[in-house]
Amino acid sequence: MYWIVRVLLLGLLVILSGCDKGPQDQRQTLLVFGTLLDIQAYTDQPELFNEAVRELDKTFQKMHREWHAWQGEGELVRLNRALADGEALQVSAELGSLLQQARQYAIDSEHLFNPAIGQLIGLWGFHSDQPPGGPPPRKVEIEALLKHNPSMEDVSFQGHLVSSTNSMVAMDLGAFAKGYALNLAIDELKRMGIENAIVNAGGDLCVSGQHGERPWVIGIRHPLGEGVIASVGVADGECVLTSGNYERYREFEGVRYAHIIDPRSGYPVAHVASATVISTQGGLADAAATALSVAGPVDWPRIAAKMGLTQVMLVDDQGKVYLTPQMQSRISFQQQVDEVVVTVD
Ligand code: AMP
Ligand code: MG
Repeated sequence: MYWIVRVLLLGLLVILSGCDKGPQDQRQTLLVFGTLLDIQAYTDQPELFNEAVRELDKTFQKMHREWHAWQGEGELVRLNRALADGEALQVSAELGSLLQQARQYAIDSEHLFNPAIGQLIGLWGFHSDQPPGGPPPRKVEIEALLKHNPSMEDVSFQGHLVSSTNSMVAMDLGAFAKGYALNLAIDELKRMGIENAIVNAGGDLCVSGQHGERPWVIGIRHPLGEGVIASVGVADGECVLTSGNYERYREFEGVRYAHIIDPRSGYPVAHVASATVISTQGGLADAAATALSVAGPVDWPRIAAKMGLTQVMLVDDQGKVYLTPQMQSRISFQQQVDEVVVTVD
């Protein structure tokens, strides 16, 4: 009798320890780029995961320091100072390639994504960690900046030597660097042996592998209401980036001024509540989500096509949803949506 109990107990232990060794969800949160970065992995190597997250933290803190548009003495701050003085600056290979990508996306988006408008973004008060207060800038101030038309086409590269023909160019990578960095994070996790992961910065995310037997499934926040508007399964290597005018804004006398600026008018975007893009290139998806918010409910399909995108969802300020056919075929709405418009292929 006694030996039967021992065998049963031993069997139970073997089963339990077997369970212990299987892959499980591991989770850690970092504070980077002024937001919380949630890193989740499905792995049987918690120690390796913790080590990878420590490495990621170092990488992200460095990117935050070097690519900050207005704080500290990082590379981008130094570059903007040089360009304002009419001088060229030799930048790192990484910043050089980041800026060249940004330049291409600016051109492809007809400059609706325009990271050269740092001065305008600063004028609206978004070069601050706190939400800006008080009245919006005066029209004359906005026009004074607009007439110089700072653009990424003013910027040229000789190797990693960056120069500009327009001293009003001030680069702000706020619409682009996060997506680029999320992609890098996934690559770095993979390199360190973490193959199934999701890296999520406030709803903007990239994934690798799967969540066990199933793909990673994520929710896209409703830009006008509460909770999730739609969920979507995200495949290995894909990123989902959303630009929303609810994220940061200035409020004065009951009017909200969003942090996404239309570079043509100098005023914040008003008719789009959010734009979501899925792509395997995080930087492209990020730049595009911003550009499509600016493009608005009529022009977005043209800009999406020019940027080579097939998976887009736009929600306008009335809650009307616009989808590409490929996006429609993969999302599931989680709330009642009154009107959905699907573009033709
Ligand atoms: P996102 O949330 O990706 O749309 O990025 C918004 C941030 O990008 C803002 O906080 C600004 O720093 C910057 N930004 C605003 N408007 C534009 C624009 N039209 N093109 C490029 N960057 C922009
Ligand atoms: Mg963006």
